[in-house]
Amino acid sequence: MNVFKKGWYTEISDDWPGVAQSYEIEKEIAHEKSKFQDIQIFKSKRCGMTMSIDGAIQSTEMDEFAYHEMMAHIVLYSHPNPKRVLIIGGGDMGVAREVLKHKCIELVDNCDIDDKVTELSKKHFPHLTDIPLKDPRYHIMFQDGAKFMESKVNYYDIIITDSTDPTGPAVSIFNKSYYEKVFKALRPGGIICSQGESYWLDLDIVLNLRNIMKEVGFPVVEYSTIQIPTYPFGSIGCIIGSNAGSCKKPRRAMTKEEADSMKYYSKEMHEASFVMPQFFKKRFESE
Ligand code: SAM
Repeated sequence: MNVFKKGWYTEISDDWPGVAQSYEIEKEIAHEKSKFQDIQIFKSKRCGMTMSIDGAIQSTEMDEFAYHEMMAHIVLYSHPNPKRVLIIGGGDMGVAREVLKHKCIELVDNCDIDDKVTELSKKHFPHLTDIPLKDPRYHIMFQDGAKFMESKVNYYDIIITDSTDPTGPAVSIFNKSYYEKVFKALRPGGIICSQGESYWLDLDIVLNLRNIMKEVGFPVVEYSTIQIPTYPFGSIGCIIGSNAGSCKKPRRAMTKEEADSMKYYSKEMHEASFVMPQFFKKRFESE
């Protein structure tokens, strides 16, 4: 649920009871119910073009780069030679835009359950979609991500789950069965990076994802924090399962062109993002 009144959008959810962040609206742009989700688009006075799905902000023009850069580059720079990437979710194409900055990538498959997200993104968020749409390495398809994974074995170097929260359609990509498929779909040395929720808000979900990744066989499971003001409590994370050793330090250097294109990611940010506050570190590393 959210409250859209008196010129303000207020993000109220049972997933974060007792707290809500509000955005003053400059212009309401679109409100559509797809087969799967309720999608709202508005221009916020402070944060620019904003997309919300089922009452949760997904992306704002002001800070989308923080999430999209980190979700893509932490794992891409941690892999010595990535060639094939799969994005599950991410139909707004923000993560794809970042993945495609890497010249070594030969193929990017993107599977989102909801073509409406992509249709609306093409129309209202060209800063996310323009680059992928022009790149022949990029292919988008529409299907449940868990279903799509069933046919893939030993194929991708990197898989990125850029999903909504684990309610609604995303339930199918937040469980052990999904991660078993992910593990099989990765080539030797492959790495998964998933939208890993916030340790302030969803510590149980974070720890559950960590357990699942370990149970399905990833020898290394790590968490990298992303500061992003328009997600509840101001942060989210990448939860990473790696067959390539620790991802805490990049294994490949950035080219000058890549470095100049970044607004959030850098080698220093990569390394710093793995430093955890004590209360979280104790839980994440010990249980
Ligand atoms: N950055 C965002 C966040 O964490 O708030 C996520 C952005 S992206 C728009 C999330 C996408 O996940 C949506 O487009 C949604 O349609 C997609 N999605 C949800 N469940 C899915 C599933 N089972 N398979 C594939 N895509 C799914």
